[in-house]
Amino acid sequence: MIAFGPVPSRRLGYSLGINNIPAKYCTYSCVYCQVGRTTHMTIDRQEFYPVDQILAEVGQKVAEVAEAGKRIDYLTLVPDGEPTLDINLGKVIGGLKQFEIPVAVISNASLIDRLDVQEEIIQADWVSLKVDSVDERVWRKINRPHRRLSLPRILEGMFAFKQKFPGKLVTESMLVAGLNDSEKTTRQLCDFLLELQPSISYLSIPTRPPAEVEVTPPSPEALQEIIEICSEQAPFVDLLFEAEVGDFVSTGNLREDILSITAVHPLREEALRDMVSAVGGTWQVVEDLLTSGGISSIRYREERYFLRHFKDIRRKNVEPVP
Ligand code: SF4
Repeated sequence: MIAFGPVPSRRLGYSLGINNIPAKYCTYSCVYCQVGRTTHMTIDRQEFYPVDQILAEVGQKVAEVAEAGKRIDYLTLVPDGEPTLDINLGKVIGGLKQFEIPVAVISNASLIDRLDVQEEIIQADWVSLKVDSVDERVWRKINRPHRRLSLPRILEGMFAFKQKFPGKLVTESMLVAGLNDSEKTTRQLCDFLLELQPSISYLSIPTRPPAEVEVTPPSPEALQEIIEICSEQAPFVDLLFEAEVGDFVSTGNLREDILSITAVHPLREEALRDMVSAVGGTWQVVEDLLTSGGISSIRYREERYFLRHFKDIRRKNVEPVP
């Protein structure tokens, strides 16, 4: 299926996803990738689906959503691989304009030093570029890039693109324990972001089963330190890891519900309080989980977030990658 959703997204509202790359063609094989290890590692742009097919499938979805009386805020290129590998990307984005809905592209930035890629995604309204680390050694470990890619060229490409892009540029950085969660790495990343000046820099953590079983988010203490460094150095940094619980369906066991939802997404205190009161529970359940170590809490900009201990999740849900 090329078009899917729309799914509610904190960054983009109701986003209709467009999967213009088959799994799993990518320029990276990130240790935390939720699609699994990269089976087709390439930096060669190519055609995967005809442009007409992509536009027809999106058109059909757009019509169905309109008929159901629902709205779409963004048409988002967010495939099971790297969207800029699609040699027809410019034509696809140009073609999507007919629907008169803003277009977003979520890219790992690995090909952003290429002029053709810059000229194509410049047509989008919103572009997210990945930057997990600006330290070459860390970048190699976390993103496991194609051997012909160069981090300095990518970082320069991001600056060049920022200069000419009239839309909204955001960055996204995934924080992984033991890889990019040290004070030094965080300060280097913040210095780069400060120079780049994107609209927002989102920080996230691997909360769903990642490609590599040993991948875990930073500890609550390390996260707290990262948040403090970033808030002080780069005020446009934001956390992308809280969930809303609007569609929360209770299983009747509040303790288990809290453990399962915080395993996928850390929750803001307000959202967690709403969830507890929606099922007639008491806050004591949360206090008991904190005391027993089932969940932890961290603070960010006057807000408290609750997250599950990842090691616990890993034991239960993730089988090792063969
Ligand atoms: S860039 Fe995205 S799709 Fe590619 S390996 Fe990394 S997380 Fe997965």
